[in-house]
Amino acid sequence: MNLDKASKICICGSCPSYFNCGEKLAFCLWESGKSKCIISEVGCICPGCPVQQELGFQKIYYCTRGSEKKQTV
Ligand code: SF4
Ligand code: SF4
Repeated sequence: MNLDKASKICICGSCPSYFNCGEKLAFCLWESGKSKCIISEVGCICPGCPVQQELGFQKIYYCTRGSEKKQTV
C-alpha cells in the first residue's frame, strides 16, 4: 500500500491527538519527519486502523514519534 492510498484510509482525523494543519495523513508511512503541528499525545487510535492491520504495523503515535520504519530502527 502506498502513501496516497493509505492517506485516504487513515483514521487519524478521528483521533483525540490529531490537529489538522493541512498535513498529508498516514504518518505511519512518512519517509521522513514527524507532524509539525501535533504535539500532545492524548490517545492514539492507530491500533484500530485498517492500514495498520493490513501492513502488520505494531507501533503507535506515528505523528509524534515517526513512521513504523523509523520507530523500528
Ligand atoms: S496506522 Fe495510524 S497513521 Fe497509519 S494510516 Fe492508520 S491511523 Fe493513519
Ligand atoms: S498517528 Fe496515532 S496519535 Fe497520531 S493522529 Fe494518528 S491516530 Fe492519533
